[in-house]
Amino acid sequence: MTWQNLDDLAFFGAEPAWAVPLPVGQVYLPAWERFEAAFGGIFQRRYFANHGPLVRELDTRLAEHLGVRHAISVTNATVALMVASKALDLQGKVIVPAFTFPATVQAMTWAGLTPVFCDVDPVTHTLNSRLVEPLLDDDTSAVLGVHLWGRACDPDGLGALCASRNISLFFDAAHAIGCTHRGKPIGGLGRLEVFSFHATKILNGAEGGCLTTNDDELANRIRTVRNFHVSESFVPVPLRINGKMSEAQAAMALLGLDTLHENIARNRGLHEIYLQRASAWKGLRLVVPAEEENSNHQYCVLEVEDDCTLQRDLLFQLLRTENVHARRYFQPGIHRIPPYGSLAFPCAHLPVTDALCGSLLQLPLGAMITDHDVERICDLIDFCLWHGEAIAIRAQRGGAE
Ligand SMILES: *Cc1c(COP(=O)(O)O)cnc(C)c1O
Repeated sequence: MTWQNLDDLAFFGAEPAWAVPLPVGQVYLPAWERFEAAFGGIFQRRYFANHGPLVRELDTRLAEHLGVRHAISVTNATVALMVASKALDLQGKVIVPAFTFPATVQAMTWAGLTPVFCDVDPVTHTLNSRLVEPLLDDDTSAVLGVHLWGRACDPDGLGALCASRNISLFFDAAHAIGCTHRGKPIGGLGRLEVFSFHATKILNGAEGGCLTTNDDELANRIRTVRNFHVSESFVPVPLRINGKMSEAQAAMALLGLDTLHENIARNRGLHEIYLQRASAWKGLRLVVPAEEENSNHQYCVLEVEDDCTLQRDLLFQLLRTENVHARRYFQPGIHRIPPYGSLAFPCAHLPVTDALCGSLLQLPLGAMITDHDVERICDLIDFCLWHGEAIAIRAQRGGAE
């Protein structure tokens, strides 16, 4: 079906254009036979946890893939961030963006640190040294940058700033596996980096994550913090946890690594269709990855500009009702959700973050999306933009004609 008049929109009562929701998350899966074979091995060995052969293989392959000395797998990226804070022996305050997934900040709070929110750059959507510098004081022990949408978070500027203040710099790279900075894979920046293998990310370990570093001593600290058990102690650390990845997770992640390039290429193809079609859109702009770098195209980010005939939330509803499950990452900003948006954490003044929270939409990409889906999503957006004013007026009247 194509959209010819307003009554064709699911928002105004028509059948949704897609019977099954199109997600933003990637959900790439390995071929069933390969998964079955990998699991057969786990059952045969009866070895399920505690750094089994698959976890060790994954660590080796990740380190190669990311061009780092150490990759250390853990249960998920949230735990990885908690492990990071103890391995780095952080105390007091850590500078974080509020424009990120909640886990970035929640992990710091679980680690007993005080997150200090910093606004982001309106173009890159990440922290930079100019924004961070005024927030540093004697209680600050680290800066946690996020490579949002896979774009490196000012590693040069922040690196110089943190070195001059003698504080730690580390990165949440949950968006960035397969992305580069100055042509080199993200993974070796700052003191350490943290990746996520959640099913919604482009490398799917059915939950999972890792920490990467080029620092041997720090790697030993990470390995010690990751395992609560005293029998595996490499160096003294302040506190430990169970962050061990299971063999089941490693089996998934290894199979995912085999097809990572393929999946990235597939996403790039989908992204290119969006890009071509977006050139005709007024008031909507695709946020494009840094041109000189490789992107994993984990996200297709749309910015709804002030002069668009449709407001962001109305466009979101129009897509949503057709079963195009676009997402509003990240709304609200983390500085506005509990416990951070309370008296104990006076809500920081973050005008750029607030503006981005109100204007961005992520469009479907990944395993469940075909070229044809993207063309049709773009047809839908074309139609909605063309009839923006009429849609807005009818929506305000409450839908029914
Ligand atoms: C997904 C994500 C996380 C959390 O990863 P998990 O592996 O699910 O714990 C953290 N930070 C960012 C930026 C993310 O996108």
